[in-house]
Amino acid sequence: MNKRFPGTNIVRPDKSSQIHRAGWVILNPWQIIENGYVKIENSIIKEVSRKKISSQYSKYDFVDHGSGVLMSPLVNAHTHLELSCFKDRLDMENGFETWVRELINLREKTDTKVIKENARQSVNELYNSGVLYVGEVSTTGITRRIFEQSPLSGVWFQEFLGSEVANEESVLNGAQGELNFSVAGHAPHTTAPSLLKLKKKQTNLKNLPFSIHVSESDAEMEFIKTGKGKWADFLKTRGIDSSSWNLPQQSPVIHLLNHDLLDPLTLMVHVLNPDNKDFEIIAESGAKVCICPRSNMNLHGKLPNLEKMLDIGIKPALGTDSLASCDSLSIFDEMHYIVQNYNNIKPSILIAIATQYGADALGIGDHTGSLEPGKIADMLYIPVQAKTETELLEKITGYEYD
Ligand SMILES: [Zn+2]
Repeated sequence: MNKRFPGTNIVRPDKSSQIHRAGWVILNPWQIIENGYVKIENSIIKEVSRKKISSQYSKYDFVDHGSGVLMSPLVNAHTHLELSCFKDRLDMENGFETWVRELINLREKTDTKVIKENARQSVNELYNSGVLYVGEVSTTGITRRIFEQSPLSGVWFQEFLGSEVANEESVLNGAQGELNFSVAGHAPHTTAPSLLKLKKKQTNLKNLPFSIHVSESDAEMEFIKTGKGKWADFLKTRGIDSSSWNLPQQSPVIHLLNHDLLDPLTLMVHVLNPDNKDFEIIAESGAKVCICPRSNMNLHGKLPNLEKMLDIGIKPALGTDSLASCDSLSIFDEMHYIVQNYNNIKPSILIAIATQYGADALGIGDHTGSLEPGKIADMLYIPVQAKTETELLEKITGYEYD
């Protein structure tokens, strides 16, 4: 349940002709209608208006949600549900390497049943907090069936890492609707460029997004820039040979660029340590970005430069990362955290980040992400009371919440 707005729920109209009314309808953050009506046929939005229903609409089922707001469901563009069972069990005070080592240790000792049970609970947590679209990343593959059987949509990514080209499994589908299956590379400092290139090629052929963690930890930065250091030693202990990875490179972003891994279907997760040149490269490539501010603060003690991203035209998505590094999977919580920790982010932009930009990052933005006519009629109802558009957006994003 969403703590701030008990009674928040996702509305998924069936194929019948329906009209939904609410005190407010947010088509997108720049088009908001007070006392709005959403006309739906065949689960697709046909019209959004302020008009009262005329008699010609008598064949439509009518649903009055009340004085709150109907808007597009939230997007959590980066999760790892297989790590949910490690909530509050890992040390986040002693740096990223300690956290990674503890995670690997604990994962080896944990029963698959426990992992699945916690992942299922997380699915409920996401859905009940207004998130319908998710970018779920799984190394073990355990969460695929859970995700398939859940009410969630978005993209499920099979993640690859290391230096070996794994046995081919047909995990990908062609991009086709609200739920897609794709692959992800773990990160530039954990995965051989040859493997990343192979996987990226496969996803491009199917027009699917390719997710990868980039520019997150200091250890990653040192390793990519020198080819040496703590991370190089750590890879050796894991039996991963990085001698053919073309290192050093100027930065993880340049490393990806040099291996043709940056294009509009790439979803770069974190982007916590880029310099100005990196930012320019990302913006020019059209690659998508997903930021995870709470996880970054917990693991690395700093925040992504969201203002700079927006300034140069990057439209980031929002993710929580896993419960192993973040308190909740709620995008309401993540928005509220941004409100508390950044000064110049407008509520309208924050709503776009949590909806349309997230949908675009997952490659489903043409038919989700807003309530504009032509899009799928999945909606989020929030029982929030507001007198003006500004108050409405501020309440949703958490400006008036401690
Ligand atoms: Zn992650």
